[in-house]
Amino acid sequence: MPRQATDAGPLGLLGGTFDPIHFGHLRLAEEAREALQLEQVALIPAGSPPHRGMPQSPASARLAMVELAAAGNAGFMVDAGEVFAEGPSYTVLTLERLRAQHGPARPLVLILGADAFAGLPGWHRWQDLFELAHVAVANRPGYAPHGRRWPATLSQELDAACAGRIATDPAVLRQSPAGKIVPFDMTPLAISASLIRDLIRSGHSARYLLPDPVLDYIGLHHLYCKT
Ligand code: ATP
Repeated sequence: MPRQATDAGPLGLLGGTFDPIHFGHLRLAEEAREALQLEQVALIPAGSPPHRGMPQSPASARLAMVELAAAGNAGFMVDAGEVFAEGPSYTVLTLERLRAQHGPARPLVLILGADAFAGLPGWHRWQDLFELAHVAVANRPGYAPHGRRWPATLSQELDAACAGRIATDPAVLRQSPAGKIVPFDMTPLAISASLIRDLIRSGHSARYLLPDPVLDYIGLHHLYCKT
């Protein structure tokens, strides 16, 4: 029998372009799951991301790579909702969809790297995100220098939005469905999708920066070979 939404533990949500998915993303999801005691983490590839240029790979290829990367980890699931949606992939719309799907009581936890968090005020209806989910912010090398958990500078409006929301104990994530901001530390991994695309384009090896099945998929489909 399906469990009631109120019984279900917090669900982590990691959206990204995943062009391609790499070990930085996967450690972010895995360490968030452990550190924040999440029941599962949904990996959500963006269809047409509104905040950046078009991805180099089609959404279907990015989805396939995410499925390959998540295979075998029962703590991960893949949500293809943005890939098949019409129009730009706004996170707030995805959260509204997931809130409707999981009910008003289930804690949802949007997982962001510190760089993505710092850019939040540029996102569509960004203040509404806190009504729909908690936000977990991971330290990411280069964006949180000297071991600081937060980006060196937060814009005034983001600073103001953080007031009264920051919590350090992950247990708060179970006490309400949304609204808290929880920083957490993750193993620093200076891997980015752009680095991987550059390596492949210039004929260098990207092995050990991403799962072998994903690298094999890239090779088979000749992705990232040209600009
Ligand atoms: P690109 O290099 O193309 O900008 P990216 O590697 O930053 O891509 P995205 O798909 O834009 O990957 O990132 C999705 C999410 O994963 C963001 O919240 C981002 O902060 C986080 N992230 C990406 N790489 C890492 C990493 N190495 N460590 C921690 N978080 C990461």
